[in-house]
Amino acid sequence: NSRRSPDADTTVLAVANQKGGVAKTTSVASVGAALAEQGQKVLLVDLDPQACLTFSLGIDPEDLELSVHHVLTKGTEAGEVILETDDGVDLMPATIELARAEADLLTRTGREQVLRAVVDDMAAKGLRYDWILLDCPPSLGVLTVAALTAAEGVLIPLQCETLSHRGVGQLLDTVHDVRRFTNRDLEVWGVLPTLYDGRTNHARTVLETISETYDLDVIEPPIPKTIKFAEAPAAGRSILATSRSSKGAQAYREVAGNLLARSGR
Ligand code: ADP
Ligand code: MG
Repeated sequence: NSRRSPDADTTVLAVANQKGGVAKTTSVASVGAALAEQGQKVLLVDLDPQACLTFSLGIDPEDLELSVHHVLTKGTEAGEVILETDDGVDLMPATIELARAEADLLTRTGREQVLRAVVDDMAAKGLRYDWILLDCPPSLGVLTVAALTAAEGVLIPLQCETLSHRGVGQLLDTVHDVRRFTNRDLEVWGVLPTLYDGRTNHARTVLETISETYDLDVIEPPIPKTIKFAEAPAAGRSILATSRSSKGAQAYREVAGNLLARSGR
């Protein structure tokens, strides 16, 4: 795969869906922690100005002098911004300043490439990860397009409800544009069913309809809806640490195992 030469050892995945509340951030934190448990070196990148990922890993954005915004718009080196977390993953944190980065980038040439350039630069400087997971904001704006441009694959967390349909086509249109213009090799790794209520047939039917309509793989297993997830962010740790053996934690471990198998790592 010729384009990826500097970082061929790294699997970069964007976790994207322009709908909020579908468990993008929860999935990034949990899959990241699960991959780290399995001995992988993992970097999570918070690309949402709301900084929920940063918060949920126990870091208060207000305490930060440097964040992803500086890396994307001020030329600050990634290594100066990346933090270690208690979950065994590294984090490139966000603050509300990232909202401004989005506006700043709009007038910049090459804005779609800005994150890819950061990833390539990290590799060139020997800052190496097995996985880089990109937590996208709930929009299809500059930051999401930059994430899709830097990524090898995209995961689409999806809450299996009747109307969850509607955004998927739009997201896939964006993926097609990215493939055409900025990242020919981008692959959709699949939809990740989240907030899944296995007691109803409804969820299963919606999932099947979506995967057939859009010809998308489903990343198994579905992540069950459980109250444990609401508790984890306040503890500043992912559910893998706060409820080690819960069904949700186990499901994310299995998902991570399937992603590992797919990456061939
Ligand atoms: P997004 O990043 O897509 O906006 P979040 O990961 O922030 O979504 O999740 C939205 C809310 O849903 C959060 O309050 C989170 O704690 C909760 N949540 C995520 N996954 C689950 C789950 N499997 N069961 C119950 N609540 C969940
Ligand atoms: Mg989020």
